Amino acid sequence: MNLVELLRALSDQFGVSGFEGEIRDWIYTNIKDKVDDIQTDALGNLIATINPGRDFIMMLDAHMDEIGIMVSYVEEGGFLRFASIGGWDPRVFPAKQVEIKSRDGKKHRGVIGASPPHIQTPEEQKQALKVEDLFVDIGAQSKEEVFARGIDVGSPGNLYYPFQLLERNRVMGKALDDRVGCAVLIRSLEYLWTNRPDFTLVANFAVSEEVGLRGARTAAHQIKPDVALAIEGTVGADTPGIPAHRCPARLGKGPAISVADHSIIVHPSLVAFIEEVAKALKIPWQHKVPLFGSTDAGAIHLTGKGVLTGIVSVPCRYIHSPSSVLDLQDFEHTVSLVIELIRRGREIKKQTKQN
Ligand SMILES: [Zn+2]
Repeated sequence: MNLVELLRALSDQFGVSGFEGEIRDWIYTNIKDKVDDIQTDALGNLIATINPGRDFIMMLDAHMDEIGIMVSYVEEGGFLRFASIGGWDPRVFPAKQVEIKSRDGKKHRGVIGASPPHIQTPEEQKQALKVEDLFVDIGAQSKEEVFARGIDVGSPGNLYYPFQLLERNRVMGKALDDRVGCAVLIRSLEYLWTNRPDFTLVANFAVSEEVGLRGARTAAHQIKPDVALAIEGTVGADTPGIPAHRCPARLGKGPAISVADHSIIVHPSLVAFIEEVAKALKIPWQHKVPLFGSTDAGAIHLTGKGVLTGIVSVPCRYIHSPSSVLDLQDFEHTVSLVIELIRRGREIKKQTKQN
């Protein structure tokens, strides 16, 4: 599968936090023949292993889940009130197309209703709408019709905008945070299946990162890694009006290496090691400007006796919206960096002195 088709398939799968079944099944089907062992745990993490049982364990993590919505109340007239799942800016919602997943797995298209400017008062036009003011219209005309379609309180939904290839090596799609990280893990496993490390490598496709780094915590508890790397799609904000010091990462400038975010301060000698490996590869790379966002690294490094954990990210513009944009070269460079970090995995621990 070529890179664009891989990203398209991952981006278009449904996988709102807590409802990752479809994206997990897709990843399972596409990696099961390239790993020695593959398991799904009680929370839904997909944990794939190459070389089980060795003396040194390296964990890779990318989260499968995406932010979404959940039906919270069904109105008499068939409109659906909803709650946010994950970190949305509610100003993104009005007039967006959605799909709601019913209990039989079917998707029901609809739109988040927005009142037309014609009927708004001047005061209303100045106000940002809150989630409580909004509703989804799936074309149903009564609540009985909604229930008959298998939709009820708790039904998940997402803002569905199909993946597209843009000009100049750039693609656009929903959920690239963190389906791009899933793609990095898949490409890394494909390489390592025939170029095996001399230790145990465990790739965790995590659930429920967007609602509090939940899946990675229980996965790391089981895996007990010596070192770990979280792979993310991070905030690319190299757009008009954003000052440089508030721009976490830039498109086209290579993988973003995290020094710290709101969930972890990466061990300084691990940061130095990742930088050294990137320099040796002669690929472009950048620091992610601290301290924006949180990552699964925050959960992983606090498990067991503490786990040495780093973060490498692909910059994505407009994350936590239905149309994020990334650069395919950044992706390729991130894969090269991650594979080299795995190849030199044992050195990470040896070279990491006290901070
Ligand atoms: Zn993420």
